[in-house]
Amino acid sequence: MISVQGLTKVFPGGARALDSLDLDVGEGEFFALLGPSGCGKTTLLRSIAGLETPTSGRIAIGGSDVTALPPGRRDVAMVFQDYALFPHMDVTANIAYPLRIKKTPRARREARAAEVAARLSLTELLGRRPGQLSGGQQQRVALARAIACRPRAFLFDEPLSNLDARLRLEARTFLKRLQDELGVTTVFVTHDQSEALALAHRIAVMDAGRIAQVGTPAEIFHRPATTFVASFIGATPMNLLPGEAGGGALHVAGAVLPAPEGLPDGERVVYGVRPEYTDLSATRRDDGFAGEVAVLENLGTATLVTLEGAGHLVQAVVPEGHEPAVGAAAWAVPRRGRALVYRDDRLAGQA
Ligand code: ATP
Repeated sequence: MISVQGLTKVFPGGARALDSLDLDVGEGEFFALLGPSGCGKTTLLRSIAGLETPTSGRIAIGGSDVTALPPGRRDVAMVFQDYALFPHMDVTANIAYPLRIKKTPRARREARAAEVAARLSLTELLGRRPGQLSGGQQQRVALARAIACRPRAFLFDEPLSNLDARLRLEARTFLKRLQDELGVTTVFVTHDQSEALALAHRIAVMDAGRIAQVGTPAEIFHRPATTFVASFIGATPMNLLPGEAGGGALHVAGAVLPAPEGLPDGERVVYGVRPEYTDLSATRRDDGFAGEVAVLENLGTATLVTLEGAGHLVQAVVPEGHEPAVGAAAWAVPRRGRALVYRDDRLAGQA
């Protein structure tokens, strides 16, 4: 539905926001662009919308090349972070605005606005102006305006970022349900990984104007393709430690651990294991990282334990009631099959 090929954007002044980027978004997909600040997410979204002119490359929507088309002729609806509602117009006029631009007769556009408003539970608010609405209601009006003209795709720039934590969760569920019902191809930008994991069918993780990995939330979470993706995704950062293959095993920070098949002796690797898949032992384990308990952080139903060893820090999540004492000796043991081994910064296997 949306195809981006070799897209490069260099801003005047030299910032290379997009670097020969390729991306394909399928019909009906809910697709997230995720990445740290400055990685080029917004520039990519704005380029798809036609608000940014790429330096090179092409963009196709629904099979036709739109690279040279102005935003109004691309048949996509963009919802901005600040919603960009017209303060002097009531909700009906805001929702119906794109239809007015398209010269839809007044009766038809008002009927359509009422229909969309009903779907988004805005009927009671049709006569109000944006200044008389809560943040969550303003967001729904912005969505309604995007839906009103039945675009081929929606583009959302950080759609939930202006809402407080509780409203944000509510709006997230609402957005997911709406996209399921409407089935319209949607690309949304977020820097919040929990939002991307919760909402998207697929996620593209971006790094410095390029795509580091595209995959389902499960693929991105369980099989991050590079150490960048591994360190970016996850509620607590993944433990990443240098190691070396030898005698059919991996030697990592004093621990002897199972190696994936096919690693030659002497090969240097980065060993990754999530704190959630790391268990703590109070007795010595050869397959554990030795250390002293340095910090305990309460996660609500579990505790994040930081072990400080000789030249390394390792974190483990332990269930409520199983916290060790600060200062105690402990061994952090990766669960079998849950560790990821990177060779030349590419995933080489699980062990
Ligand atoms: P954030 O999450 O902080 O919004 P982002 O991933 O959306 O970041 P972009 O806004 O796409 O990143 O910016 C990518 C790069 O391009 C950054 O280095 C930024 O400084 C630069 N950039 C963006 N817009 C412009 C502009 N109009 N002129 C010059 N440089 C720009």
